[in-house]
Parts: sequence; C-alpha cells; structure tokens
Amino acid sequence: MTQKDLKQIGQNILKEFEITNIPIKYKDVQRGRSTRRSIIIPKWSALERGEAYSLYYVLHEVSHQVLRHVSKVPIKMHGKEFKDMEGKLLARYDLVPIYMKAYVKELYNSKLKKTVYKKEKRK
Ligand SMILES: [Zn+2]
Repeated sequence: MTQKDLKQIGQNILKEFEITNIPIKYKDVQRGRSTRRSIIIPKWSALERGEAYSLYYVLHEVSHQVLRHVSKVPIKMHGKEFKDMEGKLLARYDLVPIYMKAYVKELYNSKLKKTVYKKEKRK
C-alpha cells in the first residue's frame, strides 16, 4: 500500500462519518496528530514497519478525528471509547490490536491467524 492508498482509506472512513473538511497529510514528523484542521501522519509509519502497521497508524489518527466529531462529551484520549472505535476500524481489515498503553505492541490477523506486526525490542 502506498501513502496515496493509505490516505484514501482514511478519507473514505472520514466521509462515512460525514467529515469532509479534514485532509490527511504525510509529513516528516516523529508523531502523528489529529486536529480540528487536519490529520498528520508520519512518513516513517508507511515505510518502516510493514503494511499492517502503516494501516494501523492511519486508523489510529482517524479514530481520534471520528470520536471528536461524533461524541457529545469530551472523551479520554486513549480511553475505552477510543479503543473501541479503533478496534472496530481495525476489525474491518481483520486486525486485532494487542495494546501496550495507548499504542499497539502487536497486531494479529484473525483471518490469517497470525501475528502480522510485532514491536521490536529496543537494544
Ligand atoms: Zn492517539
């Protein structure tokens, strides 16, 4: 999947939730963010850790945007509602998140029945 494909996936999900004014941009940044104006995704996330992870990163930031849009009350940044939303979007691609705090340490593919991403241990 190219950055273009990944952006398209993200934009299509936003559209489903009637969010049409938030562009998704790949930039040379360390961390992604989802603001009231745009979604920024780090370029490295689409290059370094394989397809499952690059898709996860987009769905993570898109989940922030969708929740901001649909929830009436402020919600905890990486709380239960967030993980439910993210989990639902990942499930569309047969991905099951295994969390370490806010982010995944592993992604499991329920169809292939195997781990498709595993965070490397730092040396
Ligand atoms: Zn986040």
